[in-house]
Amino acid sequence: MPRQVVLASRPSGWPTEDNFALTEAERRDLADGEVRVRNLFMSVDPYMRGRMNDAESYVPAFRLGEPLEGGAIGEVTESRAPDLQKGDLVLHMLGWRDEAVLPGRHARKVTPAKGLSPSAYLGVLGMPTLTAYVGLLDIAAFQPGEVVFVSGAAGAVGSMAGQIARLKGAGRVIGSAGSDDKVRWLREIGFDAAFNYRARSVLDQLRDAAPDGIDVYFDNVGADHLDAALVMLKNHGRVALSGAIAQYNATEPPVGPSNLSLCITKRLTLRGFIIVDHQDRMPDMIADVGGWLAAGELTHAETVVDGLEHAPRAFIDLLRGANTGKMLVRL
Ligand code: NDP
Repeated sequence: MPRQVVLASRPSGWPTEDNFALTEAERRDLADGEVRVRNLFMSVDPYMRGRMNDAESYVPAFRLGEPLEGGAIGEVTESRAPDLQKGDLVLHMLGWRDEAVLPGRHARKVTPAKGLSPSAYLGVLGMPTLTAYVGLLDIAAFQPGEVVFVSGAAGAVGSMAGQIARLKGAGRVIGSAGSDDKVRWLREIGFDAAFNYRARSVLDQLRDAAPDGIDVYFDNVGADHLDAALVMLKNHGRVALSGAIAQYNATEPPVGPSNLSLCITKRLTLRGFIIVDHQDRMPDMIADVGGWLAAGELTHAETVVDGLEHAPRAFIDLLRGANTGKMLVRL
């Protein structure tokens, strides 16, 4: 029988493996228009933490006792959908299970990318890189020559945001991450400067890395990182508010930033965005990233955990920073 991960209970603060349960799924015949997909890889993403809460957001909350959902890529094993055939590789939103049954119109057929694992569609050729691309180029309106600071820089979105800035002609790219190994890796993949935010205050280290200030801040973290960036932004600087992972497991209201009035005096622009609103930019992103990958100019890392039964652990480890690049589960 195919297996699935269901939400067993809602976490308060940090999730634990007890919040999840592995169960057997009912196998049923396909209705007209549906496909059966054997999932090959599923994505674990920070936004899933918000869906574990019983709260309104831009995506519905996961329901207790029901299987979780999320990005996945798999192979069609049976089809009653006109445009999909057995053997097709498809991207869809029914991860957290070995096998998905869904309307064919909810599955996007993709061509296996030359030299890349199918998992690339959940990472370097997928949603995280689109987030980096849109956040940097459209939301923060990055211009060549500018100084860019990226937090969460060794993750799926951050590692792409920093490299896209470099490839689009940034004057200087600075990244922050949570370990010395990650900091070393950021330098290897072309960040001009990188620092471990656990070692010393973010503001002190950002000031050392960008003594003349920054033009753009790509924010994946919020809290002390956003506070420090506001201090170091130049007049007319821009911030792409992508995520605030420092507060996703908080049980108390987050502290700060305490210096928002700097937005007035420095004429700053802070703009939040949700990537589902920007799917029209996918072809541009794929064209740029495809070119950089072919030329060997862009590095992408994946941290892969094996087995559906380990998906809850992979998700919790993602929130704790165990990943470099995109965190994935191979099914
Ligand atoms: P990552 O691959 O970056 O994984 C999350 C990382 O966050 C961890 O590896 C960890 O790295 C870091 N982290 C965890 N806690 C903290 C903390 N307290 N302070 C600083 N860093 C922390 O995930 P993604 O690339 O998928 O997502 C990155 C951000 O982008 C998230 O905030 C996410 O919500 C957001 N996002 C937003 C989207 C949008 O549409 N706006 C779409 C996709 C993602 P470390 O070891 O460095 O601490």
